[in-house]
Amino acid sequence: MTTLSGKHALVTGGGSGIGAAIAMALAQAGAAVTICGRRREPLEATVALQTGIFAEPADVTDRDAMLRLYKEAETARGPFGIVVANAGGAQSAPAEKVTPQLWSDTLAVNLSGGFFSVQPALAGMRERGFGRIVFVASTAGLRGAAYVAPYVAAKHGVIGLMRALAAETAKHGITVNAVCPGYTETPMLDRAVQRIAATTKRDAAEARAALAAKNPQGRFITPAEVAGAVLWLCAEASAGISGQAIEISGGERW
Ligand code: NAP
Repeated sequence: MTTLSGKHALVTGGGSGIGAAIAMALAQAGAAVTICGRRREPLEATVALQTGIFAEPADVTDRDAMLRLYKEAETARGPFGIVVANAGGAQSAPAEKVTPQLWSDTLAVNLSGGFFSVQPALAGMRERGFGRIVFVASTAGLRGAAYVAPYVAAKHGVIGLMRALAAETAKHGITVNAVCPGYTETPMLDRAVQRIAATTKRDAAEARAALAAKNPQGRFITPAEVAGAVLWLCAEASAGISGQAIEISGGERW
């Protein structure tokens, strides 16, 4: 069984969905886990589920806020040995209707936010000769998809960022990987279903069935399945796995 006892982990977007499941899995393996998000309430709800999880509200798109989070959390619980850049979001629109605001907001949270979440950890991880960095990307980081051009571009950027950091840190005991979930049962999926139902003639059940059908297993991925892959990547025994984009999608092909 993986033990992360004595490790301090940061999980961004840990108040809900995939991030909450990852925070729980890392804490159950013995890590102290700091979670962040913009809203305090969902963070406190995750804290209440499992001992060893600590809430530090912060917006990943605000580099100064992330530097403050690092200072407070590392002073309280020690340097981060594990960083999971999970916070993200998507809105859909035909490419020709994407506004400059939608474009920049989507890149800010999914791509720049990932970099701002990870960058402050790099020097310390290199000095200590240990680090585990995992980006929660998406199958949209590996293939195209209609009506989510900014999200697809941002998640492809995340895969590129992951590969660049893996190359740069390889000699220092640090691994950098990405997990790429297909449609996963979270509040983000619920919002996507509502949008599809509102913009097409389908009801919510039909919209859900259409999305689930994209997974060859005919179902949604669970947050716990994504968390299981992240936990495995964080283990000491995964030291040789770096620069990888690992799909958790039931073998999805678009
Ligand atoms: P979710 O439940 O909506 O979680 C997203 C989390 O990110 C929320 O807790 C949110 O908290 C946080 N967040 C959003 N913007 C933030 C910001 N600027 N600063 C800090 N935190 C922020 O959705 P999810 O499905 O678990 O998504 C987690 C990750 O999985 C995302 O990167 C998403 O792209 C990826 N993903 C999801 C699916 C899927 O089908 N669900 C598939 C592939 C990949 P606040 O709103 O309080 O800030």
